[in-house]
Amino acid sequence: MIRTKVCIIGAGPAGCSAALQLNKLGVDCVVIDKAVFPRDKICGDGLSGKVITCLNRIDPEIVKRLDKLETIKLNSWGATFVAPNRNKLEVGYRPDYDQNSTTQKSNPIGYVCKRMDFDNFLVEEIKRCAHVNFIDGVNINSYLLESDGYLISADNDFEVKADILIVANGAHSSFSKKVANIVMEPKHNVAGIRAYYKNVTGMNADNFIELHFIKSVLPGYFWIFPLPNGEANVGVGMLTEEISKRKINLTKELKRIVESDPIIKERFKNATLLGSVEGYGLPLGSKKRLLSGERYMLVGDAASLIDPFTGEGIGNALYSGRYAANQAAAAIVANDFSKEAMYKYDLDVERGLGAELRLSHRLQKLIMFPWLFNLLVNISNRNKQVKELISCMFYEVDIRERLTKPSFYFKLLFNR
Ligand SMILES: Cc1cc2nc3c(=O)[nH]c(=O)nc-3n(C[C@H](O)[C@H](O)[C@H](O)COP(=O)(O)OP(=O)(O)OC[C@H]3O[C@@H](n4cnc5c(N)ncnc54)[C@H](O)[C@@H]3O)c2cc1C
Repeated sequence: MIRTKVCIIGAGPAGCSAALQLNKLGVDCVVIDKAVFPRDKICGDGLSGKVITCLNRIDPEIVKRLDKLETIKLNSWGATFVAPNRNKLEVGYRPDYDQNSTTQKSNPIGYVCKRMDFDNFLVEEIKRCAHVNFIDGVNINSYLLESDGYLISADNDFEVKADILIVANGAHSSFSKKVANIVMEPKHNVAGIRAYYKNVTGMNADNFIELHFIKSVLPGYFWIFPLPNGEANVGVGMLTEEISKRKINLTKELKRIVESDPIIKERFKNATLLGSVEGYGLPLGSKKRLLSGERYMLVGDAASLIDPFTGEGIGNALYSGRYAANQAAAAIVANDFSKEAMYKYDLDVERGLGAELRLSHRLQKLIMFPWLFNLLVNISNRNKQVKELISCMFYEVDIRERLTKPSFYFKLLFNR
């Protein structure tokens, strides 16, 4: 049996972030993953500025190493929103986005990178850490709270006893369900599918990611994210509640859009599907939950922290992993693993991500009104200040706040 201070279950972005932060703090940990890396994870592969900011906070050297991996990631400078009436709005990630600026070009804010590669990069990073013992190919299926720690085990007599568990095993975490009582709720969950295509045409020269709010998939969107080597990550995500209500088959819907949507089909004329269409769940952070208990903390998708408006979960997974590591280190110093001590992690998540998740939930509800979305896109295209304002959405919560207030739209309508 391995004895450790902290055991992290899952080596996705959340688990790796926790391990990297623990290493920085000099706390020993064991990281266990059921998969053998490199492994794939169904995703849109979009890495926002939040991912880079969080990795920078852990260690800027990690970002420098990521930046050098030019062949596996594509730098992206913005996003294109296509409204239900098919008018589009192109927004740079920076409010002062200038497609001719060489300084901006050398400092990308976002990337698109296949998870097979990005997650393997993170795993290689934890393998370099002196305080991290990484074990892959072990499926943890039993958790036992004992007086001196959590005993976790796998089928093959594999056992670890830890003072603290950081649960980072993703959207289908059995610990979240059985121990923390967090179950999938259709109105707080999105079902997503993604496919890789080659030779999709009409991509933006600065690799903008594309979010198409096509009527048939509202509340949700169809996306095209450009990848290196002429490939693209193409997918659809939609609220699970609506999928069941309207009996939608997402794979059929994706194929329908690609083959017969009047605007999209032209761009897929010479495109080929690589591999198969794959799906997975996105547990949204649109409901506040208790994320900790005696000797444990839930992070990333196991804690349901995906942004309800954008579907982004990697950034929040990294942030929550970092918060959990900080709390684990503090609990070890205080020798206090009670649920009251662990609750400080919940407070950190609330402080760091709570306001943004609530605002995104309100924005998600706005998409239910296509006319409002159409109006916003139409007006933004004519008004430079408004466009800059929307661009700030990628950085500043207070701007999103304005977008959810009726007074914002009133001013848009009458102050053009
Ligand atoms: C279709 C789709 C599109 C998405 N697009 C984006 C996007 O473009 N940008 C974005 O930011 N987010 C996106 N997301 C969300 C993003 O994928 C997740 O939020 C992110 O992967 C969460 O990271 P995580 O570390 O919490 O979990 P995961 O990445 O799921 O990692 C969990 C790890 O735990 C391991 N594990 C599971 N069970 C066990 C066990 N019993 N024992 C040991 N190990 C175990 C798994 O092997 C895995 O390695 C998308 C999600 C989907 C489904």
